[in-house]
Amino acid sequence: MRTVYFLPVFFILSSAAFCFGELPDGVKIVIIQEGKQPAKIAVELPNKPAVNFAEGEWDKVPAEAKAYLAEMFRFGRTDVEVKLDCSESPDSKEWGENAVKVVKEQFPKLVKILDSEGFQPAKSITLHFKKMDGVAYTAGTEITISEDWIKKHPEDIGMVVHETIHVVQAYRGRMPSWVTEGIADYIRFYIYEETGDRVCPVNPDRAKYTDSYRTTAAFFNWIVLDGRKDFITKLNERCRNRQYSDTVFFDLTGKSVDELWNEFIETRRKK
Ligand SMILES: [Zn+2]
Repeated sequence: MRTVYFLPVFFILSSAAFCFGELPDGVKIVIIQEGKQPAKIAVELPNKPAVNFAEGEWDKVPAEAKAYLAEMFRFGRTDVEVKLDCSESPDSKEWGENAVKVVKEQFPKLVKILDSEGFQPAKSITLHFKKMDGVAYTAGTEITISEDWIKKHPEDIGMVVHETIHVVQAYRGRMPSWVTEGIADYIRFYIYEETGDRVCPVNPDRAKYTDSYRTTAAFFNWIVLDGRKDFITKLNERCRNRQYSDTVFFDLTGKSVDELWNEFIETRRKK
């Protein structure tokens, strides 16, 4: 149960404070809005000075106001708790602790890239380290990573970012995996690592967009650079809302996926 009174309060420059909430325990919250998003927030606790903070400064939010803000305004929703489970792999602890830091740091950025109307990102992620074949996999908010892999490839923190992207994607239902993996590798290599085409080679004679992972990532990057800056965000929105179909590429770009692919491959032949 929450009781909120909406009253006009004050204006600061061009941004409007639109809400004055009164919480049951006497905590007051003022939201100063810029555009559609809450930009600055002040929390007043009884007999204490007001606490001011901006979007993203979730650690400054007084505990009394956290649940309220998260639920009511999606504010701080990019904050994620990351748990570490090395019970089956004590050797992975140090590597895992760094991975926890990277996930916490990258999560808000990933949510921003893959935002969509009404999206509520995960509140908590667990990194499990195990002795197993393969590299890593993600189920819901549980990421499982091979101890053996990180011993052989201790530099491969980008793999954890790739898996974290799957948590943020949160796609349900039937999705072609090449799209899901292509988006994950696009963000990993072209935004997070910024290694780009150097690590995503495409053979113009043999590659197909359904090759997934790096090939699809390179293709998606070309679509973005070809004048469609919001392509990934829009594609993600369709996937998350179970609106993915073969016509998605045409809907978003005015060209079919095969047409786009042929144009992309032509640019690769010229390289
Ligand atoms: Zn993946």
